[in-house]
Amino acid sequence: MLKIRPSLIELQPYRAEGEEKQIRLDANECAGGLPAEVKREIADALGRIDLHRYPDILMSGLRKEIAAEFSLAAEHIMIGSGSSELLQAICHVFGGADRTIVFPTPSFSMYGIYVRLSDSTGEAVALETDYSLSAAKVIEAANRTQASLVLLCNPNNPTGTVMPQADIEAILQGVECPVLVDEAYYEYYGQSSVNLLASYPRLIITRTFSKAYGLAGARVGYMIAQPEMIDAVHKVLMPYHVNALSLAAAGIVHANRQAFAAGIQVTKTERARLIAALLKIPGVTVYPSEANFVLLRADHSGELNRLLESRSISIRNFGQAPGLHGCLRVTIGTTAENDAFLQTVQDYYSHKAVV
Ligand SMILES: *Cc1c(COP(=O)(O)O)cnc(C)c1O
Repeated sequence: MLKIRPSLIELQPYRAEGEEKQIRLDANECAGGLPAEVKREIADALGRIDLHRYPDILMSGLRKEIAAEFSLAAEHIMIGSGSSELLQAICHVFGGADRTIVFPTPSFSMYGIYVRLSDSTGEAVALETDYSLSAAKVIEAANRTQASLVLLCNPNNPTGTVMPQADIEAILQGVECPVLVDEAYYEYYGQSSVNLLASYPRLIITRTFSKAYGLAGARVGYMIAQPEMIDAVHKVLMPYHVNALSLAAAGIVHANRQAFAAGIQVTKTERARLIAALLKIPGVTVYPSEANFVLLRADHSGELNRLLESRSISIRNFGQAPGLHGCLRVTIGTTAENDAFLQTVQDYYSHKAVV
């Protein structure tokens, strides 16, 4: 028997299932990828990096650029190797044995894993039947457990639902601990809690370059918070935790972020088209979404998923996951990819295709 830490024994490693399909609508990546001119600029810049040197330890260039977007100083920004690294670090900073972290469920599955990795106790607050999150329940759970951290996901993955700003503010007022708002899908929603930072020093916002900005492969995300929070998170991160290639790519994407606006708009238009078409199919329930994916509950979802797989389309099948029975999450892809998905769902429910 390997003597690994007892808290790790039951933990399952995160796995993206299945073999690679031609049409990948399972990871909420950016439809169509990077604009060609941005890709070229990144390729040029990567060639000029002194790879024998460690990257800038303070990452001051990108931090300053991001901070300027919010009229803040660079001390309010921390870059991570994906926002995942920061979420994990924040759980380490505020969690620990004998501490509780409150998070919604169903939501991003990694929250529960980071809570356990930090030896914290998780207090999951179930979403309502319409997948909204009750602020009152979050406040009650946090106060009852004397929580040391509250995690919120807005828009929420995998449901696509959002929390009104007033509810986030009510939670900030109703609890005593830090509150993190994960804004991984902000760009598709357009509403942020960043403006609450000035009034609520316990607020932490995380964002990522992996979704709307098409850099999932480079692993870059960031957090916005008070410098005191940033310093605390710094303690648990390795030096040079974001590599020079990724930092350079993110810098170029950030400087060119206007070039992504059209793509984001196309995704939102495609989202509306997909939802409207799915609503017409008997056997399918579609939830409203403010992100670059849509959650549906489908009769015989497992069989529908097998038909999609047989046509080389991969989506996320939640199967029997708590609160997500019969649910499938499909990322908004290119128009052609969305057509292929939609055609398959239509074929399945009109019995034009058998599995
Ligand atoms: C994708 C995702 C992230 C993490 O993205 P990174 O690639 O690690 O930046 C964080 N939160 C949610 C809710 C996500 O869906």
